[in-house]
Amino acid sequence: MYPFTYTKATNTREALNAGRSGGRYIAGGTTLVDLMRETVERPGSLVDISALPLREVTVTKNGGLRIGALISMTEAAAHTAVRAAYPVISQALELSASAQLRNMATIGGNIMQRTRCTYFRDVTADCNKREPGSGCAARNGYNRSHAILGTSDQCVATHPSDLAVVLAALEATIHLLGPDGARTVSFADFLLKPGSTPNREHAIRSSELITAVEIPAHPRPLKSGYLKVRDRQSYEFALTSAAVALHIRGGFIREAKVAAGGVGTVPWKLPAVERHLIGRRPSDRLWAEAAEYAADGAHPLTHNGFKAELLKRTVERQLSAVGGTK
Ligand code: SF4
Repeated sequence: MYPFTYTKATNTREALNAGRSGGRYIAGGTTLVDLMRETVERPGSLVDISALPLREVTVTKNGGLRIGALISMTEAAAHTAVRAAYPVISQALELSASAQLRNMATIGGNIMQRTRCTYFRDVTADCNKREPGSGCAARNGYNRSHAILGTSDQCVATHPSDLAVVLAALEATIHLLGPDGARTVSFADFLLKPGSTPNREHAIRSSELITAVEIPAHPRPLKSGYLKVRDRQSYEFALTSAAVALHIRGGFIREAKVAAGGVGTVPWKLPAVERHLIGRRPSDRLWAEAAEYAADGAHPLTHNGFKAELLKRTVERQLSAVGGTK
């Protein structure tokens, strides 16, 4: 561990001032403290934002859902408004990490968490994300858990968040506050694919804070759910996952929102799957046909070729679980 200073902000103005002076925001600390212990991250100054009033869950005027960035994963998953409108969010949160971590970790921090690539966390390994230009040990190393979609020559690490998969599916918006005021960014534009700059992971600007996540209003009734496939049933990251939300009326699928996790360098929206579903009647055959599009554009590595087929099966199974077979 390296020496660092610690201050606790009591309001957003204090936090932004400290952030502008180079302070690194910390709330639950469930990712950052680990990375500091491993010397992967070495911030000279921490700004504790956990006391800021950003914990509310509210239904917006137009029927959307706004979730404060500092509410814990446990509280967000249990919130009645979240459970009623978007069970897919509660399911994704409850399948994440461990109960102890969910009690500490915040919604904002969950989105900002860094990859679980073992080479990223091993400071003796080459890693373009940790040290730009040094290389990527995973490309020719053991890459069973790595991405098959959205990869580049520079980095093939997956984004680890389950919640982020749901936010991608539901086309959420991120609310930010910085020295120049408040702004919003669509979730699709918030997390960045590695390209030639894998060290740049978010569209967040220097000293900006995430204040909330907003799910836009969707037609009712919207049935939704999250499936996570992993090597063991608890405290494990996804090999593949699928977030599905369907609006079915008059026997036809009117709206479909589908995204996948565990396979992309960012949560992977599946527009070809969605297009195949719209306007059709739910059936086992339809789920299988739509799922065939899930791995379009995949580039497997040496050890993770199984993910393309597993992804199709994950999507098919979750479409069936949410949409039924009427
Ligand atoms: Fe680093 Fe990305 Fe390569 Fe992992 S996959 S070693 S995070 S550059």
